[in-house]
Amino acid sequence: MVVDAVRARPEVREVPDPVAPDAGVVVEVVSTGLCRSDWHAWAGHDDIAFPHVPGHELAGVVREVGRGVERWQVGDRVTVPFVCGCGRCEWCRSGQAQVCPDQQQPGFTHWGSFAEYVALHAADTNLVALPDSLGFAAAAALGCRFATAHRALAARARVVEGEWVTVVGVGGVGLSCVMIARALGARVVAVDRNPEALSAAAALGADHTLLANGTDLDVPAAVADLTDGGSHVAVDAVGSEQTCADAVLSLRRRGRHVQVGLLPPVDGHPRVPMARVIAWELDLLGSHGMAARDYPALVRLVEQGVLAPQRPVERTVGLDEPALLLPGFDTATVACMTMIDPRL
Ligand SMILES: [Zn+2]
Ligand SMILES: [Zn+2]
Repeated sequence: MVVDAVRARPEVREVPDPVAPDAGVVVEVVSTGLCRSDWHAWAGHDDIAFPHVPGHELAGVVREVGRGVERWQVGDRVTVPFVCGCGRCEWCRSGQAQVCPDQQQPGFTHWGSFAEYVALHAADTNLVALPDSLGFAAAAALGCRFATAHRALAARARVVEGEWVTVVGVGGVGLSCVMIARALGARVVAVDRNPEALSAAAALGADHTLLANGTDLDVPAAVADLTDGGSHVAVDAVGSEQTCADAVLSLRRRGRHVQVGLLPPVDGHPRVPMARVIAWELDLLGSHGMAARDYPALVRLVEQGVLAPQRPVERTVGLDEPALLLPGFDTATVACMTMIDPRL
């Protein structure tokens, strides 16, 4: 799926196969997901070289191994974080590749996974082996939204059993946050403008759902009522001034806010209610993907059945339908996940 210029209509057509870079591999894509970050790239919010192939959450089979790769062979079933570290810097060496200054992101810094084949860099640092029990669609869901949700709630906000977690926006990453929060023993309030998304959140374990259409409902007041004074942790899984403020103002005193939804600078800097942050000693946390080193613990939770990333996957389609969907994805009301198999 090729995008020839900012906001151009995506086109499905033949392009040359990628070649494995030194220390990298080429993976045949079996499953890949469409997410809001792809829309940001399409809309010109990232520094993208066009023509471009989007797609950054993927799982598949290694088909070519470049020079210097030690851990991987043709035929290995793998997935990869959407942030791929360089493998050499101090951050990568300490297992924090998600903030590598020389990071590569398939579908952003180079051609991504909305294709039959994708090149991946620094394979020994970034690839994650899939156990036979983990399907490709579930693994692709881990790569972006699920890993992001896990890092945001477990590693950054340090959610503990019995706490209230408010998730504003229950699309792909928001639904993952609902599932992770439940798996951590938290109680969940899900907020969205889409009733179908809220039904999905309830089915995945949200204790309460709030329909926010931007006018009628005072979200922070409603959350305070439901949680006896506000939630311990709030996530903005959308990325807008309104959803960020709703999340921050839904917190109780000394609560922790995690910003997961992207707030690209082109939209201007969002106004954040900092007076409340100061007076109530709130913590504001950023979260950016999850490094390959942290995957085994997450994969084990999936194997044990504690987490089920495949549950929101509704159906699998080829490349034609997402090519039509991408331009409108910022306003799409997609309640569950559609996964892409480029071979269809
Ligand atoms: Zn994504
Ligand atoms: Zn690095």
